[in-house]
Amino acid sequence: MLRRIRLAQLMMDKACRKFGRPIRIMEICGTHTVSIFRNAIRESIPPMLKILSGPGCSVCVTDTGLLEQIFSIAQRKDVILATRGDLLSVPVDSGRQKLMEIPSTIAVTSILEAIELAKIHQNKTVVFAAIGFGICVPGTAVAIEQAQREGVDNFCIISGLKEIVPAMKALLTEKNHQIDAFLCCGNMSAISGYDIYNPIMNEFNVPCLPTGFEPMQLIEGIAEICRQLIEGKASQCYDFAVSLTAEGNKIAQKYTADYFDVVDDYWRGFGKIEKSALRLKDKYDKFDAHKRFGIKRTTTEDVSGCRCGEVICGIIEPRQCDMYGKECTRQNPLGPCMASSEGACRTWQKYSRK
Ligand code: SF4
Repeated sequence: MLRRIRLAQLMMDKACRKFGRPIRIMEICGTHTVSIFRNAIRESIPPMLKILSGPGCSVCVTDTGLLEQIFSIAQRKDVILATRGDLLSVPVDSGRQKLMEIPSTIAVTSILEAIELAKIHQNKTVVFAAIGFGICVPGTAVAIEQAQREGVDNFCIISGLKEIVPAMKALLTEKNHQIDAFLCCGNMSAISGYDIYNPIMNEFNVPCLPTGFEPMQLIEGIAEICRQLIEGKASQCYDFAVSLTAEGNKIAQKYTADYFDVVDDYWRGFGKIEKSALRLKDKYDKFDAHKRFGIKRTTTEDVSGCRCGEVICGIIEPRQCDMYGKECTRQNPLGPCMASSEGACRTWQKYSRK
């Protein structure tokens, strides 16, 4: 293993010498954010290699408009809102209210648990806040299929499901022109297939490398990015995450296509991104909370002073936000990047070494 680490370091050193300027690699997966900090990967690579945290935390990229809609649904007397834990502590509005303060909000570990809740509480509608990226979508489709098959009519979802590739494109075209490469999520790529990155690599010649979450996979993945940057050509190389294929998981993709349409949607830090989100098809209307409660998808301003949008786009580091570690801490988060367990601000504060 030491030999592999040494070889990786040699490649990184070579790239730094060739470029003579900081090389900016953006990771776009919340689990990578945490693993990179927990394993001190930033401290293990040359200082000229900069790892930026991008839009990889699904809770962080959920815009204030959708959060407010989830909040208002949770306040209905006829509703139980079920969600995974991270969303509970995100401040929603200028009053800094949180979902965890609403008694009828329940933390669940999966959407299937939400369906079970609906079976128990038949006098209420159980709304599951489906916040996540492509990897969460097939499971959501399977759950809708189950709810339909079992006649669980008092169940629906509010969708904050998103696709990462349109955001990668938006970063390169509008938001951040300083990104040299992307470190992509191995898990998500296993579902989508690694061919989804071809448009980015072909159009921008920016390496897109999926890796697993283990330290060695990350270090060798970063070294492979350096090799591609030295060669000046982004190319497919998928040795750093197991179980990847070009086409991905066809069964999971079919579920996604059968149940969801790809639509434009709002992202924190980006505004509206074309064809970047998933909404239930019209034939599953009754499982769509927006349609069920007659709510139109809108967006609103972020909490004043919070710079999560810039953190998500890799424009600033968390410590450049004036509120980082002062008004905004892990104990009292003001923005989603501090509230979510995979948020960049929270991870910085938890693992940064002085
Ligand atoms: S430190 Fe807090 S207020 Fe600042 S960007 Fe991060 S979450 Fe927002």
